[in-house]
Amino acid sequence: AFIPKSLSGSWKVWGDDQYDYVSIGLNEKLPYTTLQEINPSRIVLNIYGATSNTNWITQLKSAKEVKNVWYRQISDDVLRVTIELKHPQIWGYLVYYNGNGLTVRIKRQPKNLSLSHLTIAIDPGHGGTNLGAQGPTGVYEKKLTLQIADKLQKLLKRAGATVVMTRTTDESLDMIQRTLFLREADPDLLVSIHLNSSDDPIHVSGTSTYYRYIGFRPLSVAILKRMLALGLDEYGNVGRFNFSLNGPTEYPNALVETLFISNPGDEMKALDPAFQEKIAGAIKAGILDFLNGVKGSSAIANGVK
Ligand SMILES: [Zn+2]
Repeated sequence: AFIPKSLSGSWKVWGDDQYDYVSIGLNEKLPYTTLQEINPSRIVLNIYGATSNTNWITQLKSAKEVKNVWYRQISDDVLRVTIELKHPQIWGYLVYYNGNGLTVRIKRQPKNLSLSHLTIAIDPGHGGTNLGAQGPTGVYEKKLTLQIADKLQKLLKRAGATVVMTRTTDESLDMIQRTLFLREADPDLLVSIHLNSSDDPIHVSGTSTYYRYIGFRPLSVAILKRMLALGLDEYGNVGRFNFSLNGPTEYPNALVETLFISNPGDEMKALDPAFQEKIAGAIKAGILDFLNGVKGSSAIANGVK
């Protein structure tokens, strides 16, 4: 039988010079899930086993990104906390326990959205003993992802961005190592680079991007648009994708399955250094389109336009 627990009642919403925080006092560590909503942008936290009788709303001055917080008992054993943000774009959040207090640390929108003020993370898929898929000529995915990532890194650095890469050599890294490295690096956004593979090498080809959380979708859509402008077949934009690097909530992230390594035509393109440069250019352009879109939507939200 399920026994609901009560809230301890100590709630806090505040900001320091970097982040906003929402702290929820609980009598014990309870399980939770998070989800994102857009239009308006919200972080939603479901806490299982928590109960409370009263609705509670706050607006605090030291919180700069959090517009409103409220909670609601959505069933006997689920308390839903909704955090509404000021900007239309969700820039990420981290949920953790501090003792029995559940804290949501919310990243503010960067003040300057120029590449020269941002840290971009690039994750070249696979590496070392993790070969990835293999193309008809025998080339492994791990080699091509690194070559494309390296070209993207150079383009972004030339534009003034700080770039962090999960790997720069042919090394083995598991998903946990990648995730911990990224948490430490604290990027403003992440792009993971892979090549797709199909059992049908002849009929299946093209480019696709993936996202897990709806609030991070715009980045994957912007990159796909630019990839399609290279004349590649459209494999699509896919949501709720269970790729572990799409899992982090701390920063917007997208997975780019650049081409199908299993398709001879796609493989030829992926092997061509000149075409790799075009792919890198398209991903960079997609990142810029995303950032410009954020500037535009923020201006509209603030009544500037
Ligand atoms: Zn892969």
